[in-house]
Amino acid sequence: MARYVFITGGVVSSLGKGLASAALGALLQARGFTVRLRKLDPYLNVDPGTMSPFEHGEVFVTDDGAETDLDLGHYERFTGVSARATDSVSSGRIYSNVLEKERRGDYLGKTIQVIPHVTNEIKDFLRIGDEEVDFMLCEIGGTVGDIEGLPFFEAIRQFAHERPSGQCIFMHLTLLPYLSASGELKTKPTQHSVKELRAIGIAPDVLVCRSEKPIPETERAKIALFCNVRPEAVIPAYDLTSIYEAPLAYHRVGLDQAVLDAFGISPAPRPDLTRWKDVIDRLDNAEGEVRIAVVGKYTRLEDAYKSIAEALTHGGMAHRVRVRADWVDSEIFEREDPAAHLEEFHAILVPGGFGERGTEGMVRAAQFARERGVPYLGICLGMQMAVIETARNLAGMKDAGSEEFDHEAGERRFTPVVYHLKEWVQGNHTVRRKASDAKGGTMRLGAYTAMLTPGSKVAEVYGATSIEERHRHRYEVDIRYRDRLEACGLAFSGMSPDGRLPEIVEVADHPWFIGVQFHPELKSKPFAPHPLFADFVRAAVEVSRLV
Ligand code: GLN
Repeated sequence: MARYVFITGGVVSSLGKGLASAALGALLQARGFTVRLRKLDPYLNVDPGTMSPFEHGEVFVTDDGAETDLDLGHYERFTGVSARATDSVSSGRIYSNVLEKERRGDYLGKTIQVIPHVTNEIKDFLRIGDEEVDFMLCEIGGTVGDIEGLPFFEAIRQFAHERPSGQCIFMHLTLLPYLSASGELKTKPTQHSVKELRAIGIAPDVLVCRSEKPIPETERAKIALFCNVRPEAVIPAYDLTSIYEAPLAYHRVGLDQAVLDAFGISPAPRPDLTRWKDVIDRLDNAEGEVRIAVVGKYTRLEDAYKSIAEALTHGGMAHRVRVRADWVDSEIFEREDPAAHLEEFHAILVPGGFGERGTEGMVRAAQFARERGVPYLGICLGMQMAVIETARNLAGMKDAGSEEFDHEAGERRFTPVVYHLKEWVQGNHTVRRKASDAKGGTMRLGAYTAMLTPGSKVAEVYGATSIEERHRHRYEVDIRYRDRLEACGLAFSGMSPDGRLPEIVEVADHPWFIGVQFHPELKSKPFAPHPLFADFVRAAVEVSRLV
């Protein structure tokens, strides 16, 4: 049976609960325990798949094809444990399960209520995989007191109450605001937030207090006294220059010790922090800088490309260089010459996206990279746009485009070199989609195998000829144009095992030009940079040495 740590937040949102949870997971692993991290989100969307990247940031995709909260990306990057569909749940999913059961008649004529039906559904979710790990870390989204969060708080209260004592603890994150007028850190909001938790029957065991200033011992003692927490369990959390400092920083202030103490695990196994020391050494002792342009459409919100930003950092760590990524709105290139904006960069990355807006600009960025010999990494939409660019400018198909944009416009304007796929093979079964399927259900999602051409650039980069990567898209490059595009120098160097779906394209006669239909950024870790990102950054370093 796993021990459970429930992580909640109070006072304000965006305190870094996800990061604290991920860092705690890493620290428990460093002490030899196995962990799994989970996110429970109070919003009513069934999953974040249809939420705007502007509103919710990136959608993180798991191997088993779930579209989840971006916090699961942090969890994976810090623990290396691949997230599963059952590691993320929302109120929408819980209610939809309950209502489905009600319609099926599973509740035998009972009146369906938040307690016990909704809370039972949440508790069933929490128990999944209970036997597999030493610690289950469950983060509750939002802040205590939010109306939609209440069923989750009630469910974790019941869950802890029903387990043998000492098997569940509560860790609460708060903020100590600093008032410059009086030069003081204020503890009152934390006291109120804990009061709010206690009112719903939850007494925190560990308090993590975010603060921009050092927390004096007197204030720590005061928080401990007023919030009924041991002084050693009041953990300061200061701002960090890199998120990857979090495991070592939290270890220094005693977070993992406080958690193990709360469980009564004594003596605590000594931690091996070599992995994190190496990560920090690589970050702190980077020499030089490469500049990479990320030419995309969701550039207004950094979180929209969270995993890409992190994977680029990891790529830099592999070569001990700093990567400075600049987010460039692709729409600019529909009005202005890309050269004026892109010449200062050592490499260009075009990431994923949905819809036509900004795509002509991506095509122009791909053309600039191909013609100028600038390293180019196209991810998903970025691969599709590179294919369209070659079709138009080298294969003479002036009206090449993606069916996605014709669907959006409601008229046929392009020759679809990228088309809507309705049937494909996953493992040993065939998946079929109808245009009328619900929005969330029409994509090729999750891990798929790709076979790489021996001797190709990608085979060399991966050091393998069979790989597995995560997908999230509806459209595919049409295999029927393969010969025509390959004749122009765009090699189809990675294919689905049945040879029908192009997974990777590359320009052989170019220093580094690769497009991938999947999302390699989702699998990169600071302690194991993704080979594509590592090699892409290496190519950028080479360009930087030339100029
Ligand atoms: N919009 C494209 C598709 O659905 C690309 C998706 C993506 O970049 N994730 O195929």
